[in-house]
Amino acid sequence: MKPETVEHKVNQIKCDFRSDTVTRPSEGMRQAMATAEVGDDVLGDDPTIHRLEALAAELTQKEAAIFVSSGTQSNLLAIMAHCQRGEEYIVGQMAHCYRWEAGGAAVLGSVQPQPIENESDGSIRLERIAAAIKPDDPHFAITRLLALENTWNGRVLPSEYVHQATDLARTQGLATHLDGARAFNASSAMDMDIAEVVAPFDSASLCLSKGLGAPVGSVLVGPHDVIGRARRLRKMLGGGMRQAGVLAAAGLYALAHNVERLKEDHALAMELADALQQFNGLSVHPPQTNMVFVDVEPSIAKSFASHLSANGVAVTMLRDGARQRWVTHLDVTREHVAMVASIVDQFFTQASALAEQ
Ligand SMILES: *Cc1c(COP(=O)(O)O)cnc(C)c1O
Repeated sequence: MKPETVEHKVNQIKCDFRSDTVTRPSEGMRQAMATAEVGDDVLGDDPTIHRLEALAAELTQKEAAIFVSSGTQSNLLAIMAHCQRGEEYIVGQMAHCYRWEAGGAAVLGSVQPQPIENESDGSIRLERIAAAIKPDDPHFAITRLLALENTWNGRVLPSEYVHQATDLARTQGLATHLDGARAFNASSAMDMDIAEVVAPFDSASLCLSKGLGAPVGSVLVGPHDVIGRARRLRKMLGGGMRQAGVLAAAGLYALAHNVERLKEDHALAMELADALQQFNGLSVHPPQTNMVFVDVEPSIAKSFASHLSANGVAVTMLRDGARQRWVTHLDVTREHVAMVASIVDQFFTQASALAEQ
């Protein structure tokens, strides 16, 4: 994208609901980054990264943690650390670490995904998991890992299900991994400690760069041996970073300042949902965390999308605008929600005026 195009786009957006990845580091976070103590992390010398990894392990009650560049890299390292070439992982058909990560596990790890249909709450039916676990037979890849995701499209994966699924996996000798990109949102919504959210899993990946507001980074937590292998793999994949303490400082700041406040994002999502469901033509799925999905009457989907964008409101359009995803985050305020309500009202008032003519 040409620089002027970027500027043009950013200037046009007054209120960015596309994703919680759009948050920009706050003044306090930038201060923390600017003053971070650093060293060469590949040589094990970066004290700020050490602090972040120690804190992540402590908060999640896992043996060890590793700071990585992204959630995608974190999931890939986990899959490759758990599975050897020719082995496979069971995963949801719509899961991020199957569908949205460019096939990395297969391409770079020679690990075969065994995708299985997801239910609408993000779970994979237990009998389907059981049926997908291959017997020890030379025809088959060796089933090694079950990967689940929480939150799932902004929904909290039911706790009882998580225990059942991971118990099943463990009984069958599988390792378990949680793609917990937004596990802190789940923790907040359930009033459950993050350690409890990840406890049923051997390893978990947590994003610092979504609702927590850091510009870069995820942490992978798990047992010493898995994290040790992940460290070697991270280097192999080109993810060994040198004075990355400036980034880890943002992560530490995020964990100290931006976890408790996720509740505000969730409350704002509720407010937004309430505002949007006033309108005939919009059908709003009640949010559990920071995502509001809205089904739009197909006949108005296109014009409604143009109206929002012309008024500087950015949302993620799915199914040609017939479904929208609105995400609340650090940089969305109550004023933004009020502004949206009036912009949407304007659209429907105009539409009904046109209909009466
Ligand atoms: C965002 C996300 C990731 C990782 O994303 P990156 O952009 O690579 O940091 C992984 N899983 C889920 C469920 C996500 O939403």
